[in-house]
Amino acid sequence: MMELKGKKVLVVGLGRSGLAAALFLRRQGAQVTVSDVRSAESLAREIPALIEEGIVVEAGGHGLLTFRRQDLIVVSPGVPLETPELAQARSFGRPVIGELELAARFLKGRILAITGSNGKTTTTALTGEILKASGQPTLVAGNIGTPVVELIGAATEATWSVLEVSSFQLESTEQFHPRIAVILNITPDHLDRHGTFEKYALAKERIFAAQTGQDYAVLNADNPRCAEAAARSHAPVYWFSARRAVERGAWVEGDELVFRSAPEAAPERIMSLGKIPLKGGHNVENVLAATCAARLAGVAADGIAQAIAGFKAVEHRLEYVATINGVEYYNDSKATNVDATAKAVAAFPGGIHLILGGKDKGAPYTPLAPLIRERVQAVYTIGAAAAKIESELRGETPIHSCGTLEHAVNAAAAAARPGEVVVLAPACSSFDQFENYEERGRAFKQLVLDCRGWNPGTA
Ligand code: ADP
Repeated sequence: MMELKGKKVLVVGLGRSGLAAALFLRRQGAQVTVSDVRSAESLAREIPALIEEGIVVEAGGHGLLTFRRQDLIVVSPGVPLETPELAQARSFGRPVIGELELAARFLKGRILAITGSNGKTTTTALTGEILKASGQPTLVAGNIGTPVVELIGAATEATWSVLEVSSFQLESTEQFHPRIAVILNITPDHLDRHGTFEKYALAKERIFAAQTGQDYAVLNADNPRCAEAAARSHAPVYWFSARRAVERGAWVEGDELVFRSAPEAAPERIMSLGKIPLKGGHNVENVLAATCAARLAGVAADGIAQAIAGFKAVEHRLEYVATINGVEYYNDSKATNVDATAKAVAAFPGGIHLILGGKDKGAPYTPLAPLIRERVQAVYTIGAAAAKIESELRGETPIHSCGTLEHAVNAAAAAARPGEVVVLAPACSSFDQFENYEERGRAFKQLVLDCRGWNPGTA
């Protein structure tokens, strides 16, 4: 714990976690200032509550002096640590931490933290459900929704806090210390922010930096960069693999999911693959990771199997929308990078009409080429990344330049034959045309539902 009473603390960035951090710090007796580059008008919803609490608000930019006068700076995950004001504050010796690190210093009980390039929300929600169903006191927070600082009042020594953590949050951690740390996979993402793949991977590895021999690290044996991280873990490593048996951890044996706690132990049957209610091989990986983590948290095999069997896909994650004229529609708006899109394409044997595009994130689209050639009937591009996608995937399948999501849905609906699927799995973020991926996913679902009753084949 740290003493906050009377301390001058600056919160940079007023997103959901920045707002929660500011209110928490104020209630601990700190003198809090919040600073955001957005204008006072666009922060109109947040400002009154802050002022009422006695928090000073600086909107429309950061003053250099604001950064110098602080005992502590708490930075929101959306704000790069290399921002000139932050870099300078650090060079003056001001401590700069994130909301996750702040929370970790006050949170009671045990932390089960999950990171990865893809699958975090799904695996966090699933692991949370498994632990809750087992009767252990469980709270779920982090990127998935509730800011971690909001758990501080609610968690006791007996609580498991199941946390979804991103590379941005991990970048500024020091004492964040999960009892169980899971890295699902490390594939290229957010290169626009982290600069290089290696920097991004090292940020992810910070999840186990404070662990000791009493903790557990759970890693994906099938992901090369993730497996490489194991050498730097101080905690014993448990593995999960969809392809082969592992020494300790969870894997697929025939059509069964199994777990063993030690190399000499007999594999323990958890459930058959057929009982997993989620689509795609990637979700088998998520289920394996959740199983391994839950087993290490002491949940029995049958409790794990029951909770998995009752789990539903999280919205915007390869979510089934409707069947219209024999064509199934899936909303995977959360597929905001190339690997997630590859998993979505791999979840269907063929006949895919794939909507791609949005705001480019710096990684190449060429890794999609073999899967697209094999399974995709046509690609429909939207948004700012369209030209790059078209030039990198030209010749693999017909590509239709659609501009907007509406044109793409209409074109795909007109072309798809019964038995085929239309999938929004854009491999890009949404910010060029939408507020966020949720708004894009909801727009897609509405456009699909608007197609009902209209027979695209005869229109
Ligand atoms: P995150 O929180 O890491 O973004 P989500 O569970 O929200 O993960 O899923 C994000 C996207 O990645 C979705 O398109 C989903 O279908 C896909 N996905 C989920 N799990 C995996 C995985 N293990 N590997 C690759 N892609 C995945």
